[in-house]
Amino acid sequence: MSELYVHRARKRFGQNFLHDAGVIHRILRAIHAKAGQHLLEIGPGQGALTEGLIGSGAKLDVIELDQDLVPLLKLRFGINPQFTLHQGDALKFDFASIGSPSDKLRVVGNLPYNISTPLIFHLLDHADVIEDMHFMLQKEVVERLAAEPGGGDWGRLSIMVQYYCRVEHLFNVGPGAFNPPPKVDSAIVRLVPHAVLPHPAKDAKLLERVVREAFNMRRKTLRNTLKQLLSNEDIEAAAVDGSLRPEQLDLAAFVRLADRLAERGLPA
Ligand code: SAM
Repeated sequence: MSELYVHRARKRFGQNFLHDAGVIHRILRAIHAKAGQHLLEIGPGQGALTEGLIGSGAKLDVIELDQDLVPLLKLRFGINPQFTLHQGDALKFDFASIGSPSDKLRVVGNLPYNISTPLIFHLLDHADVIEDMHFMLQKEVVERLAAEPGGGDWGRLSIMVQYYCRVEHLFNVGPGAFNPPPKVDSAIVRLVPHAVLPHPAKDAKLLERVVREAFNMRRKTLRNTLKQLLSNEDIEAAAVDGSLRPEQLDLAAFVRLADRLAERGLPA
């Protein structure tokens, strides 16, 4: 690449560019893109993953926030008719404008860590147009996504993501794979939206509400944290022990509580 296109990594855009060829190949192998598929890469940066993704023959849309990277990306990939660049904020992007239930997106990204949680929630709102997602995230976030009930990692993020998706923690990546190196360890996660929800709630927004309230004070009992929403009788009617703490409840139990709330209606 010529001197002209040397890009200085910007902290405010969460820019930690991948430069370890072994790690890049391992990620591309895990994604295993094929011609005929429709990929969406969030934050292509200087194209570390983009090159292999477009090389698969798949159709590739990319969303990049940093305007300064646009000329470089156009120069490297713009000639390929399968490539479409959207300059803008992935948090505001309407995924249904490029994907549909019959043309589902395979979403990929070495994500800026500061936006990863809101971005995952934004993507879950469009789960019906998503085939699967492969993300590089802070390792700690991947551990929360893949957590099981009973431990300190189990919380709002685990429950809401597992409501919609199967989660696989694929492998860890050390800071040395990036330039500049981040201060934290990273990991690759695969999220696959369920074709049929294993524990469908009557109202997913109420599930979110119950989970948020329950984990607001995770050391307290459910009876205490949920008292604005559900009485102890309601909690027991949902076959849940009100003296438990939220981290002891599995997804199915949270869905039963949300369904009880749906039947009772939100308190005035
Ligand atoms: N994919 C490249 C790589 O692996 O080397 C870059 C990864 S870097 C961690 C994150 C990228 O996301 C940067 O290119 C950054 O400019 C871009 N980005 C940051 N915030 C974004 C947003 N809200 N929407 C889209 N892209 C964003």
